[in-house]
Amino acid sequence: MYPWEACVRKVTPYVPGEQPFEESKIIKLNTNENPYPPSPEVMKAAECIKWKDMRLYPDYRARELVKAISLVHGVGEDMIFPGVGSDDVLSMIFMTFFGSSKPILFPDVSYSFYSVWAEVYKIPYEKVPVGEDFTINPEDYYRDNGGVVFPNPNAPTSLALEIGGVRDILEHNRDVICVVDEAYIDFGGTSALELLDEFPNLIVVRTFSKSKSLAGLRVGYAIAAPEIIKYLNDVKYSVNSYTLNTPSIEVGAAAMLSGKYYATQTEHVVLTREAAYPILAELGFETLKSSTNFLFTKHERLSGKEIYDGLRARGVYVRHFNAPRIDDYLRITIGSEYNMGFMYDVLRDIINGHDNA
Ligand code: PMP
Repeated sequence: MYPWEACVRKVTPYVPGEQPFEESKIIKLNTNENPYPPSPEVMKAAECIKWKDMRLYPDYRARELVKAISLVHGVGEDMIFPGVGSDDVLSMIFMTFFGSSKPILFPDVSYSFYSVWAEVYKIPYEKVPVGEDFTINPEDYYRDNGGVVFPNPNAPTSLALEIGGVRDILEHNRDVICVVDEAYIDFGGTSALELLDEFPNLIVVRTFSKSKSLAGLRVGYAIAAPEIIKYLNDVKYSVNSYTLNTPSIEVGAAAMLSGKYYATQTEHVVLTREAAYPILAELGFETLKSSTNFLFTKHERLSGKEIYDGLRARGVYVRHFNAPRIDDYLRITIGSEYNMGFMYDVLRDIINGHDNA
């Protein structure tokens, strides 16, 4: 060990879902990407990018994008904080607001990046176990803490907490920052945006990576009271003023204004999701009631790892978490109908192979 290693800020890193490096035949149902392309307006905006202007720094306030977000949500531009995907936005929130010596609270099971950021920024935290049925119980958040974060709908469980439950958590946590991570809200559940007027300590976080088919562009944003956005910008400008690049700002604005296209596309993903239940049930799976673009499911006989390995060997990638309580589950992203059909065939094969062995 080198002497300087004693001072390294050590963390157990977040492990992202696998991204095949080269063009391949893999059926990718492992990172909750959208199976369909971004809107025609997005394609057009991408074609109109003036690459010769790339010698200039981007607009550090990302005004074109912020304006589009403000228009769509009907909130002031001073209530929007854009970032490089919602991971960047969430990370900035952790850095800016969670300076208390009291632990921040988030659910266990939940998005595994929360504990990673808490570790990186040396924020004390406590994971609050979800119920037997994987639901978030608001009463578990009636306690002294340094802040609250939860995704709604939750990931990887896919379950939505109804808006009454969200309000309940906010009502009991008025003195700390409460973050509702709405990465999957377009696929189900009720947004906490309607509670913003009532709770000036609420931050709602959104992403372009799921329902807007733009995971590769890296755009996300927070909506909150202007005082909160000001604190976030102060920290952001002190770390890296130019987070969003010019193409992301321009293309992101076009995506934000393609509401109709994305609404139809989202409906399609939801229909494919609902069609999955009887098929999976017939194959012996028990699947949680999803409000997202993925399914959280376990088989009555085979282990999660066994099915994960079997799918992988046949070129179908899904997500398996080697973690307590959920290691028998698979998280399967809703893909195109063709890819879902292929996956069902492979599952049938794996299960028959197991039962006949
Ligand atoms: N929150 C949740 C709950 C997620 O599942 C994800 C996707 N991994 C993110 C945030 C981050 O998404 P992105 O950085 O692509 O916006």
